[in-house]
Amino acid sequence: MDKTVILKEKIKKWGASKVGFAFLEDLLPKDLKHLKTGISIAVRLSDEIIAQIEDTPTHTYFHHYRTVNTYIDQITLKISMQLQNWGYLAMPIPASQSVNIDGKQYSGIFQHRTAATRAGIGWIGRNACLVTEEFGPRVRLGTVLTNMEAIYDKPVEESQCGSCKKCVRACPALALRGELWYPGIKREELVDAKACSMHMHNHYQHIGRGVVCGICVRVCPKGNQVIKR
Ligand code: SF4
Ligand code: SF4
Repeated sequence: MDKTVILKEKIKKWGASKVGFAFLEDLLPKDLKHLKTGISIAVRLSDEIIAQIEDTPTHTYFHHYRTVNTYIDQITLKISMQLQNWGYLAMPIPASQSVNIDGKQYSGIFQHRTAATRAGIGWIGRNACLVTEEFGPRVRLGTVLTNMEAIYDKPVEESQCGSCKKCVRACPALALRGELWYPGIKREELVDAKACSMHMHNHYQHIGRGVVCGICVRVCPKGNQVIKR
């Protein structure tokens, strides 16, 4: 059996809700181009916990957010160990880590969202989150970069947000610009990341020291379809 198929089955067993393989060579920085395959995973969040977010995040959401990130880091570590056992290079990208590379803004080493769209997991919504057909934006993401050749999944190249702007209207920071995503659009055209982060910092300091919000995830009708109450 092909290693892509074997690995996909293992990753599902290890707890990923969705998994896809992406060709990323053209998008990676020069020093990472040899790791041209991105394995993207999504882990579904608790609907009940998301449903409890009204006009502020909750303590439970903050804890859940961190727990799921740790869980993702464990799955991507397992993937990397399996790849190395097979003789490949593997680099798990931290589930939630911002680094100040250019001295101007904080971002991840490589955007999980970008890998996820290339791997067919979903599209990027007007809320600048990865949105899946099954769970809406109620997922957290992880990525492993590797030099293993793979059977690549079909990238998602079109937004399914349509005319919906619920997240844009709900954002208390007025940070969402309302633009429809397409591959290659700059993140700042979708969201004013500074306004989002300042709002969280200034208003939710008592919940996880102001690093989570979740309102634009909560209101998305794609995710709401799966609420069972
Ligand atoms: S996380 Fe909150 S502040 Fe940031 S864009 Fe979403 S709704 Fe707005
Ligand atoms: S709330 Fe509407 S516009 Fe925003 S991400 Fe969800 S579907 Fe897209």
